[in-house]
Amino acid sequence: MSLPEQTGFNTQIVHADRLGGTEHGAVHQPIHPSVQYGFERVEDLIAVFQGTAKGGFNYARQGTPTTAALEARLNQMEQGRGTIVFSTGMAAICAVFLTLLKAGDHLVASRYVFGNTNSIFGTLRDLGIEVSTVDVTDAAEVAAAVRPNTRMVFVETIANPGTQIPDLEGIGRLCRERGFLYVVDNTVASPYLFRAGSVGAGLVVNSLTKSIGGHGNALGGSVTDTGGFDWSSYPNIFEAYRKGDAKGWGLQQLRKKGLRDMGGTLSSAAAHQIATGAETLALRMDRSSATALALAQFLAGHPAVSRVLYPGLPSHPQHAVAQRLLRAGSWLLSFELKDPADCLPLCNRLRLPLKATGLADTRSLIIPVAHTIFWEAGAQVRASMDIGDSMIRVSVGLEDVQDLLDDFGQALG
Ligand SMILES: *Cc1c(COP(=O)(O)O)cnc(C)c1O
Repeated sequence: MSLPEQTGFNTQIVHADRLGGTEHGAVHQPIHPSVQYGFERVEDLIAVFQGTAKGGFNYARQGTPTTAALEARLNQMEQGRGTIVFSTGMAAICAVFLTLLKAGDHLVASRYVFGNTNSIFGTLRDLGIEVSTVDVTDAAEVAAAVRPNTRMVFVETIANPGTQIPDLEGIGRLCRERGFLYVVDNTVASPYLFRAGSVGAGLVVNSLTKSIGGHGNALGGSVTDTGGFDWSSYPNIFEAYRKGDAKGWGLQQLRKKGLRDMGGTLSSAAAHQIATGAETLALRMDRSSATALALAQFLAGHPAVSRVLYPGLPSHPQHAVAQRLLRAGSWLLSFELKDPADCLPLCNRLRLPLKATGLADTRSLIIPVAHTIFWEAGAQVRASMDIGDSMIRVSVGLEDVQDLLDDFGQALG
């Protein structure tokens, strides 16, 4: 079976599983719990080990039919060449850095990144990998940071919590000209709002825990090879993976060195939950983006609020980039108060959003940023990331928009 040509994002996603073929006409791919995969003929076992069999499984740390079905679905969303899933978004990010960089290499990364990604940069430095963090909203800053040993550029599409958007196209051009591997963490935007392959990203990372899973009930991560990067000229590919079409080398190394050896494997049960969540990705993103825009507009007009950070607002520094490249502004917004002393009381007066870390749940979540997720980073890092003491991050859920506006209205007074 195949779908009619030219079907839309939603149609493709909800029909993806059955196109791969299912047993008994089951609508979902089954959850495969097996760790071992047995073979009648030892030659077939050997073929899986040596990679000469098409597909095939031997030990679940490297994947199961259930994780493979999720990989196929994500790859379809990203229109990639291949996708690997991991136990968490951080496992996916670590696999990229630790298997594709080595001591003596240089990474140029966004100054505006997820807190734990920023923490990993410290680990990379201890391992002898140089890391420069720059303001990626200007590609010239990335160009100025380049060294003879630069290998990779890493950015987030919509940064958390400040919602900065990199000069995605300009950095893509720079990476193409100089042969750098361009890695885009597309967690917040998701492939529905933005396809990073369209600006020249070689690898796209997603935390499946957020937009794609969408229900706050399963952790997961993924790396997609867009097919846009020339691995034949990348020096850090081991001899063992320089086999066959060079387009496949990077993902091969990531699956062996990153997934198999480091072991950050997604369970089949979590893969199934994420695959189910992914079916409504577009509906949820449309809905939460519309609500977030309404809330951002409301907050921007409120006298107690000093600043609102949301790409959908004309006041946002990268509003034009967002309008050109993103389908909508996403569920992520942050705001600051004229009176910083009201930050914690305001959080407590809000009745609908949960006071919780985490993102892209069906329920709205709020967190005071300086006191929690960027506490360990310290005042200097917060200042460099433009995080004020009263910043409140909101992950907008699927509640009825008027209920949220009413709640923020009563809490702000
Ligand atoms: C949450 C997040 C991660 C890490 O994902 P986990 O699944 O929690 O490990 C990475 N990048 C971004 C932008 C995130 O929001």
